Amino acid sequence: MSRGSKTGDRAGGASHTPVMRQYLTAKAAHPDALLLFRMGDFYELFFEDAVVAARALDLTLTARNKGAEDEVPMAGVPHHAASSYVQRLLEQGFKVAICEQMADPSKVKGIVPREVVRVVTPGIAYDDAGLEARQNHYLVAVERDPAGPFGIAALDMSTGELAACEAQDAQAALSELARLDPREVLVGPGADDVAKPLALARPRVVVRPVAEAIAAAEAEATLDALLGAGEGRASASSAVARRAAARCVATARVCEAGRPLPIARLAFYELGDALVLDESTQAHLELVRAVDGGVRGSLLEQIDATKTAPGARLLRRRLLAPRTAVAEIRRRLDGVELFVAHSRTRAEVRERLGEVGDVERLAIKLAVDRAQPRDLVALRRSLAAVPALVDVLASCPDPGAREALGVGERQPWIDPCADLYELLSRAVADDPPARAADGGVVRDGFDAQLDEARELMRGGQRLIVELEARLRETSIPSLKLRYTRVFGWYIEVTKAHVAKAPAAWRRKQTVATGERFTCDELDTLADKLAHAEERAAAREAELFARLVRDLAAHAQRLRDVAARLAAWDVAAALAEVAHRDDWARPEVDDSLELQLEDARHPVVEKLAAAGRFVPNDVALGAGEGRPRLWLVTGPNMAGKSTLMRQTALAVILAQAGSFVPARRARIGVVDRVLTRVGASDNLSRGESTFMVEMKETAHVLRRATRRSLVVLDEIGRGTSTYDGLAIAWSVAEHLHDAIACRALFATHYHELTELASTRAPTCENWSVSAREHEGDVVFLHKLQRGAASQSYGVACARLAGVPEPVLARARALLGELERGAALPSGAPSSLRGRAKGRPQLDLFDAGGAAPPAEPHPALETLRAVDVDRLTPLEALQLVASLQKLAKGP
Ligand code: ADP
Ligand code: MG
Repeated sequence: MSRGSKTGDRAGGASHTPVMRQYLTAKAAHPDALLLFRMGDFYELFFEDAVVAARALDLTLTARNKGAEDEVPMAGVPHHAASSYVQRLLEQGFKVAICEQMADPSKVKGIVPREVVRVVTPGIAYDDAGLEARQNHYLVAVERDPAGPFGIAALDMSTGELAACEAQDAQAALSELARLDPREVLVGPGADDVAKPLALARPRVVVRPVAEAIAAAEAEATLDALLGAGEGRASASSAVARRAAARCVATARVCEAGRPLPIARLAFYELGDALVLDESTQAHLELVRAVDGGVRGSLLEQIDATKTAPGARLLRRRLLAPRTAVAEIRRRLDGVELFVAHSRTRAEVRERLGEVGDVERLAIKLAVDRAQPRDLVALRRSLAAVPALVDVLASCPDPGAREALGVGERQPWIDPCADLYELLSRAVADDPPARAADGGVVRDGFDAQLDEARELMRGGQRLIVELEARLRETSIPSLKLRYTRVFGWYIEVTKAHVAKAPAAWRRKQTVATGERFTCDELDTLADKLAHAEERAAAREAELFARLVRDLAAHAQRLRDVAARLAAWDVAAALAEVAHRDDWARPEVDDSLELQLEDARHPVVEKLAAAGRFVPNDVALGAGEGRPRLWLVTGPNMAGKSTLMRQTALAVILAQAGSFVPARRARIGVVDRVLTRVGASDNLSRGESTFMVEMKETAHVLRRATRRSLVVLDEIGRGTSTYDGLAIAWSVAEHLHDAIACRALFATHYHELTELASTRAPTCENWSVSAREHEGDVVFLHKLQRGAASQSYGVACARLAGVPEPVLARARALLGELERGAALPSGAPSSLRGRAKGRPQLDLFDAGGAAPPAEPHPALETLRAVDVDRLTPLEALQLVASLQKLAKGP
């Protein structure tokens, strides 16, 4: 990039000039950050920072004292574009320290004082551009005592939220981290158990190990300094969680360079209060992100009908942390039901909410003194909507509803902040400029001093107009009085008329089109004007700062308003969805039941199978004699995975406080939803699919309790048939016998369905039906009692376009396999003998029958094939290889 070269600081001098010493001091205080060092119109980076930033930002790497012995690598960015560069550095995970000139260089003798005024790190957004409106922006810290529990704290500096909890082991800590979905995680010494898995699971998250432990006393001092000894202290909470919170606060302090932090309290929460959704369950169920990482196609996208950003954030948080306390869930459902029942109120409330801005983040911007004029306008517009909202709610005909919404006859719950609205209306102009320094932010009539200065200004401007008219009359009719920032006021005369310029005028500048002059009268006037302008600007800056300060003093009230609006927004949005998609209020209780009638998959119903979705019933119960394990079979593409996911989603939605996509639902509260769905490849993690599958299975088996819902989809696919079947079998047994939770288990191993006969009535076979029609398979997507009779694999292959000769051969092979349980014709008889007596299910009897005969490799290969993933070409290659195997070596 090109740069100006007029910064005097930069030229010449040994590397340890005073400026360089200043640089080195600042850098020493922030060794882990890239230091942006303000020099005139640029922020410069030196030494290693310059090399790193040049690469990261694609800047030209130059040098200070080029060629000399003390040459220093250097790179820079223009100050006016700095924020976008900072943003890019943050996105790449860097921490950045911004070192400013603390005085106007033209007004100081010698070296300009400089100070680091702000440090930015990915977990603490630099400005609005770095924030996602509909999502929290968390900086998380994890601490641990040797062999003790983990402490986790999350700080969102854009909303002022600080919350901490304790996790008993690394798995629980990882689940919580997945739920928080942070931008950056500071991992304290001893907590590195979570660092690697976290970095693998979430490549976008910046994982920053912190070498130094934070001592308990130091942590308490940090929290004391922030919160005082008041109620915000949450003093009963865990020490390690408090240390994590202190780590977040300490980081924020460094970032804000001593400015007050917008954190009013430290909330402490119990992990057990929320339904646990670990990383893979979140991903498999596509709760807030679809497989491709975007929000499109996720459950959140389907249910997010919120009108405001705080509402959207609240909904997202609730979806990722559904509750486990029945009373709390019912209270949330009450709120939704209210808006379902009163559709006019809902529509009007939603319309009003559309006028409301992000009051939560606006309140914080005020508190940290980063509010701009237009933020004040947004706040004013938001507050203007509040009384109307309250009116709408208060006119709801149902008195119980009014109480529940907080607008009843008893003490109203919402403070409309009328005083703040009134202040904003009086003080701030209708349509102010983006930056306070541009002037015109404060409304005329708000302040006598400002009005007076402005009057002078306007008077001066009038005088300029008069002077122009006079000069035109007396000298050159076409002249103009103009102004630029650099040259101030001047008389512009075109070439043709230059000769007519009076002698008293002084030449200021020659330009291509003519000459620029000035005269005594203009100079005097310009002086006066500049003075008036300066006075107006100074007064306005003072007023603006005071206004922000006055409003900031009420930041907590604004945050309370924001919280209430967000709660209304979420309830109304969920009601809107429930009404739109015909969802039902779930009956939530402490039982171990899970009954869904005519349940649908909220996303598949809308996208893949729009208009022709077949609803299904599910009835599970972990109580005595109730069917707790369902073995679900059926051909590929029948809808097994969909059924299982929709069941898990219904539970999550219900406990998050939403209606569910079903005609009727009864849900006994679940403590964790554990899933292993599909055979997603994780090669990027350097693990085989099978390894990942087994790890996740192990995780499921270790974490599940009687109160959990386990959804296992096609376990054991990634290995050889017997292996896979054996694992699937023992996993199913363990789930049923030992854990005894509610579970859905889809399998392509038909042998497994035998399990149901030995474990009735607590284990049942169900299948998703299909019909074969003239060689084609027709999916009915309807769940029915009993195991699937056949797998339709060949029919499926036909649908997929596998060529007819391959299909014919596969049909023949299949027939033979099913009849003889031996190798098909074409294989040498020696081999056929070996494959005979293919072991049946007694393989798994406790007594342990004879070990299984070794299966023929061709058979193995054939079994392992996922027919509907074959391309025609692969199918042909497969047949060739099968034949080769069959012919033997
Ligand atoms: P499986 O797991 O049995 O192979 P999936 O659950 O992946 O099948 O479903 C395959 C496709 O079938 C889905 O993408 C969807 O388009 C459709 N489908 C699944 N269930 C239903 C249903 N109940 N009604 C209509 N279409 C469905
Ligand atoms: Mg499936």
